[in-house]
Amino acid sequence: MHKTAAVLLSLALGLSACSTSPAPGSASQANGAPQAKADQRPVTMILPDGTTQQVTGFVKDGYVMVEDDIIVAEAGQLTQQGTYVVDTRYRWSGRTVPYTFASNVPQAIRDRVAQAASTIRATTNTVVTPRTSSAQRDYVQITYNTGTSCASGLGKTGGRQTITLADRCSTGSIIHEFGHTLGLFHEQTRPDRDQYVEIVWANIPADWQSQYQIRSGSAGYGTYDFDSIMHYPAYFDGKLAIRPLNSSVNLSRMGQRNGYSSTDVSTLNAMYPR
Ligand SMILES: [Zn+2]
Repeated sequence: MHKTAAVLLSLALGLSACSTSPAPGSASQANGAPQAKADQRPVTMILPDGTTQQVTGFVKDGYVMVEDDIIVAEAGQLTQQGTYVVDTRYRWSGRTVPYTFASNVPQAIRDRVAQAASTIRATTNTVVTPRTSSAQRDYVQITYNTGTSCASGLGKTGGRQTITLADRCSTGSIIHEFGHTLGLFHEQTRPDRDQYVEIVWANIPADWQSQYQIRSGSAGYGTYDFDSIMHYPAYFDGKLAIRPLNSSVNLSRMGQRNGYSSTDVSTLNAMYPR
């Protein structure tokens, strides 16, 4: 592993000056249905219990990401240590996520964000709302990318953080991204997931397997939720990647991007009590 990390680090340093172009061949996918990426970076994830985990990050649409759609940093902002860090422990104060738009975000996307924000306010304790004052120091800037990314940071990172959206990002995908912003992990990375699903490693490219690791320092609220908007789809690149141990579970339940499930709502409400 150490040898691999050293190679990845030198790759990262070599590319840091010209790393803002989208990964080649990144075809359009439903979010959470990742494809193999070539441009990789070492990432340290700090989990809610304070433990850390090493994850392979990749560069896409100008950002360093893990798990397909979690933004760790802007590409090119290499840290001194050469390893990116994402700290997932911080919650939004006042249950509120203020947001702004970068000037080039198309109106159609602005409308979908407003719809997503309205749905989140109506169904959970949390409030996603336009930023009205510079005194709101922690906020999300929504940026536009001409690639395929719908992506967010994980939890509150402090100061200005990003959700980046492409034309293909639906209102449901945007609700999923705000789930990450609020601190939700992907459902299939729960510590207890092996009791409910089998990860079909043979169908996942080697450089993508770390995206399917259990985040052992995270918490699973309620029973395992196939209906979570935070669950990956069953298929990776057309191959079955997540197989429910209970064969009666319909595969199409995984990866829905319509809205928070009832367990998603109770999870958010437990994280952000009124
Ligand atoms: Zn996601």
